[in-house]
Amino acid sequence: MAKVVVVGAGFAGHYASLVLADALLGKGNHELTVISRVPKFTYIPSLVWVGVGRMKAEETQFELKPVYDKLGAKFVHGVAKEVHPDDQYVVVELPNGSTQQVNYDYLLIATGPYLNFEATPGLGPDEGYTQSICTPPHATKAAAAYLELVSRMEKGDKVKIVVGTGHGTATCQGAAFEYISNLHNDLVDRGLRDRAELLWLSNEPNLGDFGIDGLEFRYKNQIFTASEVVEFLFEKYGIKWQVESHVKQVDENRIYTININGEENEIEYDFAMLIPQFKAQPIKWFDKEGNDITEKMTNPAGFVKVDAVYGKPYDELDGPDWPRTYQNPIYKNIFAAGIAFAPPGPLSRPRQAPDGTPIAPAPPRTGYTSELSGRAAALNIVDMVEGREPSHSASMAETPGLCVASLKNDLLTGGAVTIAIYPVARNRAVYGEYGRDLDNCLAEIGLAGAWFKWMLHHAFLYKLQAKPGWKLIP
Ligand SMILES: Cc1cc2nc3c(=O)[nH]c(=O)nc-3n(C[C@H](O)[C@H](O)[C@H](O)COP(=O)(O)OP(=O)(O)OC[C@H]3O[C@@H](n4cnc5c(N)ncnc54)[C@H](O)[C@@H]3O)c2cc1C
Repeated sequence: MAKVVVVGAGFAGHYASLVLADALLGKGNHELTVISRVPKFTYIPSLVWVGVGRMKAEETQFELKPVYDKLGAKFVHGVAKEVHPDDQYVVVELPNGSTQQVNYDYLLIATGPYLNFEATPGLGPDEGYTQSICTPPHATKAAAAYLELVSRMEKGDKVKIVVGTGHGTATCQGAAFEYISNLHNDLVDRGLRDRAELLWLSNEPNLGDFGIDGLEFRYKNQIFTASEVVEFLFEKYGIKWQVESHVKQVDENRIYTININGEENEIEYDFAMLIPQFKAQPIKWFDKEGNDITEKMTNPAGFVKVDAVYGKPYDELDGPDWPRTYQNPIYKNIFAAGIAFAPPGPLSRPRQAPDGTPIAPAPPRTGYTSELSGRAAALNIVDMVEGREPSHSASMAETPGLCVASLKNDLLTGGAVTIAIYPVARNRAVYGEYGRDLDNCLAEIGLAGAWFKWMLHHAFLYKLQAKPGWKLIP
């Protein structure tokens, strides 16, 4: 009998839990326990539409416990605070303030990002002045602020809207790109677009970098880039841009930036949605003597080390250095997936301003990548439970990335940029010059993407509730 514990029930953790439940429960008295800080699953990609006021947060969510009850898994609503890997237990803080010890034989950490608004003074909807669409409450608050702005515009006000990244090392540019495009189209539909100035503010070296070192693709024997696609779109939409920038501080009226050349700028704004830096969730690791071994188990940002090759300089980093099994090298019964695993390095080239301020996107681990790594980790745990070596691999240098970036959510007049990339992390050992298979990379704008995005929302919410036939949905 094996006790498997999953911490975090987002894209990586919840999907891994479905795979684990399917493979293990009902056989050999195995137990699966899922620990989650929040009682609901959120389909985060649709928070873009929540943030424009075109969808309610509840339409992106479902309760986790009934799903786990149905599968025979245990559910603990609480925050994992500590892991004791020698004695194999997790300390969980419950909503009433008490703590619970949850024992495990195998552990999967899938806790996603900690939204580090504190890294930028004045950033964020709780302690600062800017909006966020990273969580359901944030997206709901962003929608309210945006609709307030809309009523000002309806009365004749001209406004300045800034969207992008709020820190030199923030990631998730794709979500911000979707948000600014949806805002543009929403304002067009309301007949208010001429009353708003829209600015894209980002730490990317150029448009279309998206933290994945950009994208090249072949079309009719010519090579195009995501940068050209985004520039075309922003010009068509009348969106201005300022890239290569770190946000130093935000106050009620201005955003203070420094760029890669050390030039400082003050941007006036009426409404801003800026993605914060992502750190790992603050979980502490202790050995059997009670020593804090967090530094040994994680990288400096707190992400859990797995089977990657760490410490190589950017120019030497290549496909084989990316993790495959997501197994911790010290404690073989511990795995980490999704945003929680420590990548071997960035995808976009690290750069800094003359004063040393880092200005380069951190590597994203998108929803699809998170699912693939969660699935591989889950199947590797099943391997070990059944007495085999971990055999499942989902390296970002061997798997595709698929991102459908919404421009507008409407099945008749909507649109999306469909970005397919293979593989996500450049793998020059296999694909030579570009490190990617350009015949399997694509960035295309069209209405079909809007249908696909709508379908993904419904298909994912169906599949992740383990409804009949869920395993058939890829
Ligand atoms: C607005 C937005 C739009 C996006 N759109 C797309 C898209 O279109 N396509 C795409 O591929 N990706 C998209 N992404 C990225 C995608 O959402 C993430 O890659 C994905 O959610 C990461 O999955 P994860 O499981 O690692 O983390 P999460 O989904 O964040 O899940 C982590 C879970 O762990 C819980 N948790 C955290 N700490 C603890 C703790 N200590 N104890 C217990 N539980 C804990 C959290 O509450 C959360 O439920 C988008 C992101 C944003 C913000």
